[in-house]
Amino acid sequence: MKSIIVTPGKKGSVRLEDIAEPVPSANEALLKPVRVGFDRTDLDINDGMYGTPPPGSESLVVAHECLATIASVDGGSTGLSVGDYVVPTVRRPDGCLNCRSGESDMCTEGNYEEHGIKELNGFASELAVSDASFLVKIPDDLIDVAVLLEPMSIAEKGVTQIYRIQQRMVWQPKRALVLGAGPLGLLTTFLLRIKGFEVYTVATRSKDSLKARLVAESGATYVNADEQHLDNLGTFDVVMEDTGVVGVALEGLKLLKPNGIICMLGIYGSKQASVDVGSVFTGMVLGNKTLFGSVNANKSYFESGLKDFSALQERYPGLLPKMITTRLGLSGYQQAYQPSKEDVKTVIEFR
Ligand SMILES: [Zn+2]
Repeated sequence: MKSIIVTPGKKGSVRLEDIAEPVPSANEALLKPVRVGFDRTDLDINDGMYGTPPPGSESLVVAHECLATIASVDGGSTGLSVGDYVVPTVRRPDGCLNCRSGESDMCTEGNYEEHGIKELNGFASELAVSDASFLVKIPDDLIDVAVLLEPMSIAEKGVTQIYRIQQRMVWQPKRALVLGAGPLGLLTTFLLRIKGFEVYTVATRSKDSLKARLVAESGATYVNADEQHLDNLGTFDVVMEDTGVVGVALEGLKLLKPNGIICMLGIYGSKQASVDVGSVFTGMVLGNKTLFGSVNANKSYFESGLKDFSALQERYPGLLPKMITTRLGLSGYQQAYQPSKEDVKTVIEFR
């Protein structure tokens, strides 16, 4: 079967190859991928920055964002049937307390596996396997947008964690700042909009770019940071940092209101920052402010993402599908690794 694979650790190794079909074990479903999406993680893996092949293999099938149909499954335990549309979650648990409690996204040991990233093949393949208990069934009316569910699960986790942390006091948030307008920044923007926030979303594209227009369509305000300084935007109850840029993250921290909270979702390059850290810390103390990091998402966040996709489709019809800007066939995979600046989400279609 045709699969897109990389040799982890080897820069630019992505290629299309025929590999052996996977054989599902007793608890696994055999999947026929319909559509896979690509994000920064996939690009980083092809740049040799990280990624681990399955034990005994030198190559790794890529892609962790996937919509598939079920080709075979033991339906008794899962309620799933052949032909169902599903999205697999990415991470599989190790034996730590959090993993055993359904919170593999909060793993303390780091011995988890991740499809398309760490020790488990991804889904850019004519056939794939997944533990059937980590498949999320997709209703018919969300099939077109379900390939966006994995990035949505990251936004869901961040926002859910914010509300849980903020139970520490009486809190009625109104204004949110989203730093970054890639797929995660856009989905975070839309999610905060349906939760009733006044949202400002910051990136460096022009105001007539697709990203800016999608932000505006959701009723949020798009800010081009090349034209407007963030100091002029006022202060915020919630900041979602999706850029991975140290200077931008520090700016976001400074824009928190008293009792405000910033969620860090980026991967930050090594940087010796020359800022007055003392006044940043004092500002956090005197304002009861919180900074926290959030990574990955367990199945519950995929499920809440589906509910919010339904709400978004109803409130802003056509908005989510516009995020899928490039559709490639399997043989066009190289273009997925060279996205243009105007691309939002690139997918590969299997049929
Ligand atoms: Zn664990």
